[in-house]
Amino acid sequence: MVIKPKVRGFICTNAHPKGCAESVNQQIKYTQSLGSINNAPKNVLVIGCSTGYGLASRIVAAFAGGAKTLGVCFEKPPTERKTATAGWYNTAAFHEAAKEAGMYYKTINGDAFSHENKAEVIEAIKADLGQVDMVIYSLASPRRTDPDTGEAYVSSLKPVGQQYTTKTFDTNKELVHEVTLEPAEQKDIDNTIKVMGGEDWQLWFKALSEASVLADNCITSAYTYIGKELTWPIYGHATIGKAKEDLDRAAAELNTDYADIGLKAYVTSLKAVVTQASSAIPVMPLYISLMYQVMKDEGVHEGVIEQINHLFRTNILEQSPELDEANRIRLDTVETNDHIQALIKGAWEQVNDDNFAELGDYKGYSADFLKLFGFGFEAVDYDEDVDPVVEW
Ligand code: NAD
Repeated sequence: MVIKPKVRGFICTNAHPKGCAESVNQQIKYTQSLGSINNAPKNVLVIGCSTGYGLASRIVAAFAGGAKTLGVCFEKPPTERKTATAGWYNTAAFHEAAKEAGMYYKTINGDAFSHENKAEVIEAIKADLGQVDMVIYSLASPRRTDPDTGEAYVSSLKPVGQQYTTKTFDTNKELVHEVTLEPAEQKDIDNTIKVMGGEDWQLWFKALSEASVLADNCITSAYTYIGKELTWPIYGHATIGKAKEDLDRAAAELNTDYADIGLKAYVTSLKAVVTQASSAIPVMPLYISLMYQVMKDEGVHEGVIEQINHLFRTNILEQSPELDEANRIRLDTVETNDHIQALIKGAWEQVNDDNFAELGDYKGYSADFLKLFGFGFEAVDYDEDVDPVVEW
């Protein structure tokens, strides 16, 4: 099959196996070029391991820290006629590289919110690792089924308190225009907290602890985005921000509940990057395009793998990492500092459909977007007939 990108709005409905492998291998190479990390965790569970920040965490844990990694993701396998999701091919490529390097790897494809998935992971830990000394929680999902009641919850991306009118970029029509977003009802806020808040992170620890598979001094982090004034109305102070605040509550409770084993639970705030999750958020494609241009001009641009290398090399493994007033690790301060934000704000105020290509790095944004699905890598021949069926 010759595989070309099929983009529909903010998603790409297919993926390229060789391109995804190239993306994973580039991230591994970059990580290795920075050297290895001493005293890194040795048995690492990554929940949401197949794309974005979770995949980068798995790569750094394994290829810089030398860890055995156990991953959880929710990806679609390929058929003869339909490609797999990008996360499937990424995972296949990660396995291939780990195998070549003689490292342990296992990935469980299933719904991380379910009791069954947790039980399967615990079985694998018991059989292969004994205990885990790090758990990265990097899920991004629009829905969650409560494992006890069976009730399904859907998250929403809505402002809280009042209507919000803003500029946005329609990636489908490639147009900058105004959009008015209606405020959330309390039900929207509650449902978003149910999906993206800290409840499931805590359920993971309850299950791992009851099965005695948590090592003493285990480290865990969930990831968040805080942003600044430009994104607060649709992110930080919106439904998703309320869910992210719930992670702070969960981290505090985890630290108290598992103090006996010396668990260290953090929420880490990362910078905005192009991932499958962020492309779905209104306003973010415009904000990220302008932010990319500013940060590239200032020579401080970073993507997922650079951010996670920073996290592992300068912060999370320290005895007492630097924390903000809400006890979070902050990797986003280069994006959110006043100088960079003022430059982005300046561009934001001027941007319209005519000058977007000059003020924003939409080229960079869309190239990164296509790369998420394995398209646009120089080393890959996209006219080649490739087999979409790749097994793990
Ligand atoms: P992503 O869409 O690239 O990755 C999501 C991962 O979750 C994938 O591995 C997917 O398979 C997995 N997943 C989704 N639903 C699942 C389920 N039910 N069961 C098992 N696995 C499931 O997302 P991302 O952007 O890397 O986001 C990861 C975390 O980082 C999120 O908490 C997000 O809020 C945070 N974050 C993202 C950004 C950003 O700009 N993208 C910035 C800061 C923080």
